Amino acid sequence: MGRDRSHIHPDIVFVSPEAKDDALTRRVIERLPDADIRYLSRDGDPLSELSPDETGLSSGQELSEVDRFTAGKRLLLLTRYKGSWLKACPGTSSHVCCNLWIVNPGEGCPLDCTYCYLQSYLKRNPTLKLYTNTAELLEAIGERASQNPDRLYRVGTGELIDSLVWDDLTDFTREIVPFIGSLPNVILELKSKDDCVDNLVDLRDTHNGNTVVSWSVNAREVSEKDEAATATLDERIAAAERVVAAGYRVGFHFDPLVFFDGWEEGYQEAVESIFSRIPSTAVAWVSVSSLRYQPDMQRIMMERFPDSSLPFGEQFQSKDSKLRYVQPIRFKMLRFVWEQLKSVREDMPVYMCMESSAAWRSINGGAPVAGSELAEVFTRRGRLPILPSSGPA
Ligand code: SF4
Repeated sequence: MGRDRSHIHPDIVFVSPEAKDDALTRRVIERLPDADIRYLSRDGDPLSELSPDETGLSSGQELSEVDRFTAGKRLLLLTRYKGSWLKACPGTSSHVCCNLWIVNPGEGCPLDCTYCYLQSYLKRNPTLKLYTNTAELLEAIGERASQNPDRLYRVGTGELIDSLVWDDLTDFTREIVPFIGSLPNVILELKSKDDCVDNLVDLRDTHNGNTVVSWSVNAREVSEKDEAATATLDERIAAAERVVAAGYRVGFHFDPLVFFDGWEEGYQEAVESIFSRIPSTAVAWVSVSSLRYQPDMQRIMMERFPDSSLPFGEQFQSKDSKLRYVQPIRFKMLRFVWEQLKSVREDMPVYMCMESSAAWRSINGGAPVAGSELAEVFTRRGRLPILPSSGPA
């Protein structure tokens, strides 16, 4: 079920020396019979292993930074991660943060959103990566959770990689979802713009209500023009319906809100489309956030997506150095979508991600007090009951 995924599968898979015998490596290679598999003899950036024929350049010429990033989307490196797995979400300075813990089972994404910050963040090392030592990732979560059993941890995997985009190759959710289901004080958020949920549906009896599956969503106008290779809004909603039927709670992130002619109708239609098919009682949280990006992203977006209007508009550099819409536009958009969501259900758990205290005051009547309002949304002990599973989706 779900869409055909062959267009996002890599052309070349590189395998680092220490990852060659790992189970995840074998699984991915087996499921990519048409890919060119290359075993590396040393660690390093596999892009430099490509011949001039493969990069389309004559020898001696170098790929530009932007072309390197585009080339990296067709390459996948299977390797082991050697750093510290669990990190507090860096948030953004002078803006309100939701206290999420992050683990990255890889980095880079074969989807291609115009506004994706990875274009800047990973520009020096753009080859997509999957980490094959996932048992260590689970161990790190288990250790952290056991150190402070009275605290409820919310952990996300969708910071440097889409949480579901490779699941047809890795089956990673088959490892992490039952594991999180066995922990009494961890909620996992899987965040995606894809519809690859077959494994999650199969895991209906083991998630134990501890995994929330969330989708970044947008007005169709934005999805169609500026979220290349992603599942359509309808495909994301269909995937959400399937996981709700399998007893999961779901989340939606209206991120980034983009200003365009007809934005009000566009966002209203998106909210209506979602909640005409998804019961609001199955929603764990919904976030709203306006478009923001580091200044160097403007040039990258203009080069990689010359037809997009995203890099333009009335923007200013905010305290965290990112470019954002000027306050009247930003607050108007945040308030509009916030009110649309609250009109579906007054107590819909809506929050703003990476927005200022001033935005909270203007839209919600007050900033969240020392995390209390956010704690109510994210770390409440009395969670919603596990939804009954309603048979195969
Ligand atoms: S889905 Fe997320 S990670 Fe992937 S390209 Fe889009 S914004 Fe980037």
